[in-house]
Amino acid sequence: MKKRKNKIYARIRAAIQLFYFLFFSSAYTAAFGGVKYIAAQLGAGEEIQWTAFVAALAGLCGFTIVFGRFFCGFACAFGSLGDGLYASFQWLCKKCKKKPAKLSVRLCEGLSTVKYLVLAGIAVLSFLGIYPRLRGISPWDVFSMVRAGNFRLEGYAPAAALLALIFAGMCVQERFFCRFLCPMGAVFSMLPVLPVFALHRSRENCKKGCSGCTRKCPSHVELPEDGSWETAGDCFQCQKCIGACPRENIHCGWKELRGNEALFTLVRAGALAGVLIWIS
Ligand code: SF4
Ligand code: SF4
Ligand code: SF4
Repeated sequence: MKKRKNKIYARIRAAIQLFYFLFFSSAYTAAFGGVKYIAAQLGAGEEIQWTAFVAALAGLCGFTIVFGRFFCGFACAFGSLGDGLYASFQWLCKKCKKKPAKLSVRLCEGLSTVKYLVLAGIAVLSFLGIYPRLRGISPWDVFSMVRAGNFRLEGYAPAAALLALIFAGMCVQERFFCRFLCPMGAVFSMLPVLPVFALHRSRENCKKGCSGCTRKCPSHVELPEDGSWETAGDCFQCQKCIGACPRENIHCGWKELRGNEALFTLVRAGALAGVLIWIS
C-alpha cells in the first residue's frame, strides 16, 4: 500500500516537474537576473526599478517564504534537469551492473557552503560592473540559450565546459548543483519559511536508531522537531523523506492542518503557477 502511494506520489511530482519545465523554464534565470541587477544598480549608485527580473526575484522569494522551497523541489528547470540526469545515470549503472560513484557525506557537507561563495562572488562582480563582461563563462547563459533552441555558442566555450562539468556532477550526486553551487539556492536557503509548509518530524515517534529520512534526503537534511518554528533551509521540498519514513512521521502543516501533504502539493503547484503567470 505504502509502495503504491509512493509510486503515485512520484508520478504526480514528475508530471508537475514536466509541466513547469515545459512552460516556465526561464523562472530560475529571471530570478537570478534580479539578484545581479540589484547588485549592479547598487554598485552604480542608481535607483532599483521594478523590472521583470526584480519581479521574478520578489515573486519567488515571497512564494518561498510562504510555501517553502516548493519551487526548487517541483518547478525549477535546472533542478528538474538534475533529477532527470541523476535518475538516468542511476538506471544506466543498474543496467550495466555497476555501482554508481558517490561523494562522501563529509565532502558533501563541506561543498554545501560553496553556493554562498558563488552567490557572494557573482554579487560582488555585478556590484563592480565586471559580471556583464564575463558572459562567456556563465553556464546559465548557455543553458538558457540551448533551452531556447539557440546553439550559436561561439565565444561560450568556457561556459559550455562548465555546464558539462555541472551535468557530470548532477549524474553522480543527487541535486549536485542545487546543493553545492546554485546561487539562487543560497538565497532561498537563507529565507525564513512559515511553519505551515515546512517539513517537521516528531523525534519521539521515530523508530529506534532510524535515520532513513536523512539518508534518503538529497540534501542530507536533519528535519527539525515538530511544533517548532525552525525550518531546514537546505530542504527543497522534494518530499522524498515522507515516502521513506516507515512510521509516516514526517509532515508539513501546522496543528490541525498537519498531514495534508498531497493537498498542500496541489495548492502550492496552483499558487506557484499563479505567481509565475503574474511574473511573466
Ligand atoms: S537550488 Fe537552484 S537550481 Fe536547484 S532547484 Fe533551487 S533554484 Fe533551481
Ligand atoms: S528533507 Fe525531505 S523534502 Fe527536504 S530535501 Fe530532504 S528529502 Fe526532500
Ligand atoms: S525515517 Fe521516520 S522514523 Fe526514521 S528517523 Fe526519519 S522520521 Fe524518524
